[in-house]
Amino acid sequence: MQYRRFGRTNLKISVLTFGAMRIPFGDLSPEERKRAEENAFLTMKRALEVGVNHFETARGYGNSEHLIGMWLPHLPVRREELIITTKIAPTQSADEMRRYIDESCQRMGITYIDNLDIHGINTYELLELSVRKGGCLDGIRQAMKEGIVRHLGFSTHAPLEVILDTMRTGEFESVNLHYYYFNQRNYPAIRLAEELDMGVLIISPTDKGGQLHIAPEKLRQVTAPYTPIEINQRFLLSDPAVTTLTVGAGKPEEWDAHLRMADRVEPLTPEEQAILQRMDMTMKQALGDTYCSYCFECLPCPEDIHIPEVLRLRNMAKAFDMVEFGKFRYNLFGNGGHWFPGVQADACTDCGDCLPRCPLKLNIPALLRETHEMLTGAPVKRLWR
Ligand code: SF4
Ligand code: SF4
Repeated sequence: MQYRRFGRTNLKISVLTFGAMRIPFGDLSPEERKRAEENAFLTMKRALEVGVNHFETARGYGNSEHLIGMWLPHLPVRREELIITTKIAPTQSADEMRRYIDESCQRMGITYIDNLDIHGINTYELLELSVRKGGCLDGIRQAMKEGIVRHLGFSTHAPLEVILDTMRTGEFESVNLHYYYFNQRNYPAIRLAEELDMGVLIISPTDKGGQLHIAPEKLRQVTAPYTPIEINQRFLLSDPAVTTLTVGAGKPEEWDAHLRMADRVEPLTPEEQAILQRMDMTMKQALGDTYCSYCFECLPCPEDIHIPEVLRLRNMAKAFDMVEFGKFRYNLFGNGGHWFPGVQADACTDCGDCLPRCPLKLNIPALLRETHEMLTGAPVKRLWR
């Protein structure tokens, strides 16, 4: 396992982070509960065995904080050797935030949080709520003065402009965001993080980056001899500005697929560059003159269709048979709130507003209709808010 400096926090973090969003559970029988609790323990223990020193959770992840607190005293690690990030959504007042920080500490049985993220600065309104005078930031700063919170970052699913403006406030030492081979929209945020000396945590690159653990054969053939997980990991960790990747392991054995590349942080080899070029070429050849470059020039759509995201899912489904991933994301439209904005593509009225803005002159309404037919299904709800 390699370790990297987490920006100006100076924390030395393993390049893989245990993302604790998948260990919580709901109502279970006593026996099932016992098994789920043991599974959480074994998953965390395995993380430590493979060299992970960073656990990342959130107030909003069900009983995740509680499970960490339950097992921390039994894990083979001293508190000071473990870096814990938790995330709390912006609150209306400093007092409320302060109360939530104390509650997180109590649930995890810890006296300090190494790194607190304001969770989900996804819009300018939430940015304003997060940093306004007398608001939740004051509660965090007070907790920092008292040594209860050591470092402050933010997590985001926001449009790029909101992310960059949040980073430029200078209030945050790290950013927790989406960025993968299959979604490079936030590349400028990675570069800005480097310039501002901020840590960069990538949200779940395996699952959100394309459900790469269940990648279709077509994708696996193109990335061979690497697995899709491995080449995505190399794509990310060959960039020195990327500190760590969240692995949302739900079982101990789920670490295995990530380990071969956990020691590899050097620049891409010629072989790896060739694989990534092959992926680019396969995508462009498969899509031909319907390839969407995810440039965002077509927005805004008066019907609130997130055209680039719909067509990104189409790109992946058409080029690499990633239809299941497409369905998983597409059916969040209309249910994801500010975490996943936009509605399904059948809301298109053919108004034509987007057409002159597309530099590739795509027939956007026709592509949207085709994508809707291919991907629509039962609504999907986000796992956690
Ligand atoms: S044509 Fe459809 S997708 Fe384009 S702006 Fe109008 S409603 Fe939105
Ligand atoms: S403007 Fe065209 S190429 Fe760019 S994201 Fe929109 S549809 Fe895709």
